[in-house]
Amino acid sequence: MPVPYRLVSNPPLQKTSRNADFLSVTSPFPDQPEETSGSLFSRTRSVRILKRSDLMHLVYSFLIILSMLGLLASGKTTKLEYAMLDIFFRARPMAIENPAIALIEIGPDSLEAIGRWPWPGHYHAEMIRILSRWNAAAIVFDRAYSDSDPLLDSTVLTKALQESGRVYFPVTLESKPAKKIWVHSLPVELEAAEGSKIWSGPPAEHRLLLKGLGQMEAPADPDGILRSVQVSQAWGAQAYRYLGIQAALDYRGQKTEPPELQKAARAREGHLFINWAGAWQRLFPRYAYAEIIRSDQAMQRGLKPVLDPQKLAGKICFIGFTEGENAEYRVTPVNARMPVLAVLALAAQTALDGAYLRPASFEFQAALMLFFGILATLVFADFRNLRSALILLGLALAWVLLSFLFFWKAGLWIYAVQPLLLVSALFIFSALYAHVVAVREQSRLFDLATRDGLTGLFVIRYFREVLNQMVQECRAEGRPLSLILMDIDNFKAINDTFGHPAGDYVLKKTAHIVQSVIRLKRPVKEADLAARYGGEEFVVMVMGKLQDAADKVGERIREAVEKAHFDWEGKTIKVTLSVGAACLHADEKIPDRMVRRADEALYHAKRTGKNKVCQSP
Ligand code: GH3
Ligand code: MG
Ligand code: MG
Repeated sequence: MPVPYRLVSNPPLQKTSRNADFLSVTSPFPDQPEETSGSLFSRTRSVRILKRSDLMHLVYSFLIILSMLGLLASGKTTKLEYAMLDIFFRARPMAIENPAIALIEIGPDSLEAIGRWPWPGHYHAEMIRILSRWNAAAIVFDRAYSDSDPLLDSTVLTKALQESGRVYFPVTLESKPAKKIWVHSLPVELEAAEGSKIWSGPPAEHRLLLKGLGQMEAPADPDGILRSVQVSQAWGAQAYRYLGIQAALDYRGQKTEPPELQKAARAREGHLFINWAGAWQRLFPRYAYAEIIRSDQAMQRGLKPVLDPQKLAGKICFIGFTEGENAEYRVTPVNARMPVLAVLALAAQTALDGAYLRPASFEFQAALMLFFGILATLVFADFRNLRSALILLGLALAWVLLSFLFFWKAGLWIYAVQPLLLVSALFIFSALYAHVVAVREQSRLFDLATRDGLTGLFVIRYFREVLNQMVQECRAEGRPLSLILMDIDNFKAINDTFGHPAGDYVLKKTAHIVQSVIRLKRPVKEADLAARYGGEEFVVMVMGKLQDAADKVGERIREAVEKAHFDWEGKTIKVTLSVGAACLHADEKIPDRMVRRADEALYHAKRTGKNKVCQSP
């Protein structure tokens, strides 16, 4: 009984059995016969697949969250966070209004007017006297004066310090120079320098006359940018605060560090973030050292000074280099070149305002990441390209904005980059995952549409499409194409004797044998293709000559079925099949006649005793 064949005009060669197989989620030979009936099964199975994929998505997402938490703990991405923090510093609008700080700059013009550095102590004595007369609140030098001053100068300075009582000098913790004696002009070390340090600063007799001393430890972060200063440094019996912070606390009458400062410093291993704000040149009023001397001299002579002394009244005056070869520059979040004097003043400003920036604790950051990660996982579970991308963008923006607000308004530094990395990673993963699930689903639907539910072989509709196309291709390329038809012998008797389920079992097992004999593991163009032709009939498209099809495929299948054991409920079923083979003739453009010849050959095999292979040339 030939099946009418239609010539499909250039039918697209879709995924055939061979390339579909590895994508297939349904086994071509399902084990449970009851699973194969009807659309109800397909639906429940589909739901089950979705649920399983959702779970896997959750599990993998959670692993991503965990690895990101590990990254957070490792501190490997802290540099990125710093970069974002610097952006925050620059983005935050900040104006210091009516600052209590003034900078007195030792620049090239002052050096030209006064002379080369180092200046003798009595110059500083003069400056101290002037600023004290002008009622400056504090006078802070950013470096100690030269030790090599003549004794006279030192006495003058002593007097000035005594009278002023508002002067600050820095101390530095330095390695003690090795004690050496010289024997015949060769140095002999008496005491190793290593491991031994001393506080170096103004001489002891002056220290007593100062308002305060302070250290100036401000190590840069690993990326070379200075963001914080060391609040306190201790060595031996002495502990000193950062010079700027000490001056600011004194100015505010705070004998001890306020709790917020302690908290902020504790959160960063004793360091305090400076509240960086804009270009340093615009933050504080600045006056040249020489300008102050000149103004005072003018006033002494009864002339109008260039600088009104009122401008410095009540101010903390920071004196130091801001320009020229003696100035020391640092890279900060807001300035690539900021003189240490400005760093000092900004640290003081931070303490004056009480505007402390506190980094959030690891636990807090981790909890936030976890929350964010879970939120993103749930949102991305139902992945839609555009919608999910928009959500990602929204989440990222919202997060950056939120952490910026925390930074700006609450002085809390919450990491912004890592949550973004986490959400982006989850997004990318979800996108890939959704793609894989879609491909699988597609392949499942393809199988559902093209495979026979009972045997797992292709359905005849699909087989016909491929056959039509292969006929065209083989004709064009001059390759041989053959077809074999098979019909199980006396199948009705099997059904009648053992029951319909037994018949189904025989069909499945026979299909399995057919599938195992034909050549699938070949390039797509050379692989054979098997389908269920009708009730207990099968068809195989063989990429080869008639004789090969008959011998290598037909005969092998026949033999394999004959030898196979079909055991059903303890009984053995004897199964054989008859095979008809035919090939495509050179003048044929459609497979119809080949199918008819194969059918005739099969009929011949049935008539002449069954369980044999016949071919029609
Ligand atoms: P012959 O050797 O001449 O082929 O004899 P036969 O008994 O096999 O005859 P025929 O080909 O006419 O029988 C086909 C039978 O296969 C009829 C039908 O009941 C049975 N059948 C068709 N589809 C199924 C099926 O899916 N499951 C089962 N169990 N039986 C089927
Ligand atoms: Mg039949
Ligand atoms: Mg039959």
